[in-house]
Amino acid sequence: MAQQQQTTEKAAPPRTPIESGCPDGFQYMHPLMIKNYGNWKYHDRPRPGVLHHVAYSGDEIWTVRVGTQRQLGPYEIGLLCDIIDKYGEGYVRFTIRSNMEISLSSWNKVEPLIKAFEEAGYPVGGTGNSVTMISHTQGWLHCDIPGTDASGVVKALMDDLYEEFVKEDMPNRVHITTSCCQINCGGQGDIAINVQHTKPPKINHDLVANVCERPSVVARCPVAAIRPAMVNGKPSLEVDEKKCICCGACYPPCPPMQINDPEHSKLAIWVGGKNSNARSKPMFHKLVAAGIPNNPPRWPEAGAIVKKILHVYKKDAKDWERVGDWVERIGWPRFFELTELPFTKFHVDNWRGSRYTLNASAHIRF
Ligand code: SF4
Ligand code: SF4
Repeated sequence: MAQQQQTTEKAAPPRTPIESGCPDGFQYMHPLMIKNYGNWKYHDRPRPGVLHHVAYSGDEIWTVRVGTQRQLGPYEIGLLCDIIDKYGEGYVRFTIRSNMEISLSSWNKVEPLIKAFEEAGYPVGGTGNSVTMISHTQGWLHCDIPGTDASGVVKALMDDLYEEFVKEDMPNRVHITTSCCQINCGGQGDIAINVQHTKPPKINHDLVANVCERPSVVARCPVAAIRPAMVNGKPSLEVDEKKCICCGACYPPCPPMQINDPEHSKLAIWVGGKNSNARSKPMFHKLVAAGIPNNPPRWPEAGAIVKKILHVYKKDAKDWERVGDWVERIGWPRFFELTELPFTKFHVDNWRGSRYTLNASAHIRF
């Protein structure tokens, strides 16, 4: 018996790790970056959209930042890679906001590369005090809750904000985010455009028993508004509409609880969030406009409000104030006056607990 067990142990193949994380970035880095890794003397920006790094060894490297439409298909990827191979040196990386950055070892290659991108319709910019690429959530591509396609709002807005991307004219950098539901995995932004459901889910009772695991749906609700119920002799669910905050979290585990609605799923605009610790602590963004029509394909109403806020911020903020810093200095009443946005009862945050319970610092503490 012991001998048999030993034979089985010997025969077992070694367990190899499954590597599904991102690959080692060094293999894709420009050789000058690998050579001078951790030994940079200084960096500057010779023009918007171009970063220049100088190493202690005397080596220099230029990086050209290009805006994309975020969701790239094979055609766009092929087009961009052809440009990078022809005018660059074949080294490219994506930033967290889906800008592309192309590394070059010579200043002489910078202008021809920029010209090629611009001729293909891709703007160069997004550095320093610009409105850099808008980040968006997964949208219909990967998530099961979206009330709109966040990438569509981003494309429409970035077309409108082209000039602010290619110039560095803002008081400080502006990070805009979009989220396609109120779970807001787009995170905190100087300006955020988020979908807001305004009505509780409509339940298709005929389907609930076949499609939904009822206990998981009940557990999913953050305000305990869902209860099991028998409807027309079938096991189903019911929602206490007075408690429901219309968050949409019950919809993914139970699609018969339809929350998306062409009329009642709206966009809301939030202002003043940031993750950075520079000059002031990280901040949560606050609601400034709600009930904006979710109006594809160009979302003109949301775009007009974002542009208005940006315009006022650009004119009124002091150098290096982020949007949140600016609002804190002038006060919210003045913000609403300057932007001419109506202040309603929906702007009043009556959940004071957030101040004390949520960690608002990016520092790691133990
Ligand atoms: S914001 Fe909401 S709908 Fe959009 S990807 Fe995140 S969780 Fe999904
Ligand atoms: S929408 Fe949100 S709050 Fe309303 S029932 Fe569903 S999970 Fe609960």
